[in-house]
This record gives sequence, structure tokens and C-alpha cells, in this order.
Amino acid sequence: MVRLLDFLAPRTCGACREDLPPLVQGPLCGSCLAALAPLAGRLCERCSAPHRGRERLCGRCRGALFAVDAIRAGFAYRSPVRELLHAFKYRGRLDAGRALADWLGGQYRRHPELRGARAVAPVPLHPRRLRERGFNQAEVLAAAVARAAGLPLARGLIRRRATAPQWGLTRARRSMNVRDAFAWEGPPPPDSVLLVDDVCTSGGTLEACGLALQAAGAREIRAFVLARD
Ligand SMILES: [Zn+2]
Ligand SMILES: [Zn+2]
Repeated sequence: MVRLLDFLAPRTCGACREDLPPLVQGPLCGSCLAALAPLAGRLCERCSAPHRGRERLCGRCRGALFAVDAIRAGFAYRSPVRELLHAFKYRGRLDAGRALADWLGGQYRRHPELRGARAVAPVPLHPRRLRERGFNQAEVLAAAVARAAGLPLARGLIRRRATAPQWGLTRARRSMNVRDAFAWEGPPPPDSVLLVDDVCTSGGTLEACGLALQAAGAREIRAFVLARD
């Protein structure tokens, strides 16, 4: 339904910020929507990082042990997903969040290796940031994944301390930054958990959550993120 408000105050594209024609559904203009494509190309079989070699695993995953067995991503962290995510997180565009969550839920079935989890757990925000923002973007995404997978949401992960933003830090500093930042509270988690977050860059945040889940008794931990950087 076209609302009168759409004519009075034209909506803008969540990615390029051009005015949207009144009949456009969703947060993107036609050309930004046309640029939306699932993550593809040669990817590491564990962490889904783009990787050129002939091996199954990227150099960082080869020969290493991780709490998180596999990371899969719906999209690459670039336009229009990156801009829509910013519109959602920093400008409160809830329509962008709804669309991203729907798209990520729709991508779940493309990744059979994520099946078999017993619950979906969003990466938590620190309570202070949650108060400022009013929502946890990972939980909005996780709810859509849980619906697509027919699984319950598990909210036992907590962020024990605020961490500096991960961007701009070296890989070593990133893992220092999030070490011990997470814990599991309440009844033990199921043995197999699917973590959900918005963006995966180094994988440090997911791994820190995976270690907290492992410490609480989970044995099989995989992750599904909206966007792979
Ligand atoms: Zn656009
Ligand atoms: Zn890898």
C-alpha cells in the first residue's frame, strides 16, 4: 500500500540515498537492488575468506584449531549490503534491517553445512551500546535465521565488557580486544549452536563467542553472518 507520507516525504535508497519512486518496495532503488548478490568465488572452506590458493583452507585456517568449526556468509561486505547495514545500525533505518534479515534468512538454505544446530545464538552487544542503539542488529538477523531454520533463539551469550570497535585494529589486536569479552549465562547451551552476527572481518569476535560457548559445554559451533569482509 502506498502511504500518503511516501509522497509528502520521499523515502531514500538505503544505499545510494537517491529518492525512491513511491511504488518501490523495500529500502533499495532498482540499480542498488541489481547489485545485490550472494557471496561467491573461491572461499576458504572454514572461514569463507576469499582465497586464491588451490588448498581447501586459507593460510590462516590451515593447521589451526578453532572453537568455531565453520563460518558462512550471505553476502560480501560491500555495496549495497554494507551501506544498508550502516543505515540500519547508525541511522536507525528499521526497513533496511528488516530487508537484510529477510535476505539472510533466505540464504540459509544455500548452506547445508550449517544444518543440524539446535539453537541460534546472536552475538551480543554490550548493554550500554544496546541502550544507545535500541536494538541488537545481530539479534534481528538471528531471529530471521532461526525462523528460516525452524530453530529457537538462544540468548545466553553476554558481553562482559565493552570492546573497542574492531575496525582499524591489526589481527593480533583484534583477538586481544575480544578475549574474555563474552560468557554464557543461564542453563547450558545445546551441544550444537549456530552463531549469528552482522559482519565477520577477522573472525575474532565469533571465535571469542565460540570459546565462551565451548566453556559452557557446546561442542559443535558454526556461524552464519550477513556479510564477509
Ligand atoms: Zn540506490
Ligand atoms: Zn580460512
